[in-house]
Amino acid sequence: MIHVPTNILLVDDEKDFVEMLSMRLEDAGDKVTPAYDGHMCLETLAKIPIDVVILDIKMPGMDGIQALKEIKLRYPLVEVILLTGHGTTETAIAGMKLGAFDYLLKPADFEELQTILEKAKLRKAEQDERIRKAEARQLLRRGGNI
Ligand SMILES: [Mg+2]
Repeated sequence: MIHVPTNILLVDDEKDFVEMLSMRLEDAGDKVTPAYDGHMCLETLAKIPIDVVILDIKMPGMDGIQALKEIKLRYPLVEVILLTGHGTTETAIAGMKLGAFDYLLKPADFEELQTILEKAKLRKAEQDERIRKAEARQLLRRGGNI
């Protein structure tokens, strides 16, 4: 199977964790942009096309849930995977009701992350494709060919 590189935005206030996980994801063939808080996350989304955001819930200042709400409002097609500690799974599930694709317990298991990431990429790609086709149909109708 051909691996299509995905643009991932990795958001976590633990810089060592971001560096380590970025390296592993890049080794696995993806393009990773780091961010260390909610504001930096939104600033990056405004500048770079991103497919999937991996988003820590517990961050100082704007937390992951606040950031998630903003992401879904401004970029509804971007998929979000939440990172959560053992004590906050309820928050993570609340996040899924706000539009997050799924969540992962910290410390994140890389294999599990890869599995969720593949599913999130697939949903993003399918949705992008449906929109492209709908836009093409609309263009054809405007042209009077249908
Ligand atoms: Mg944190």
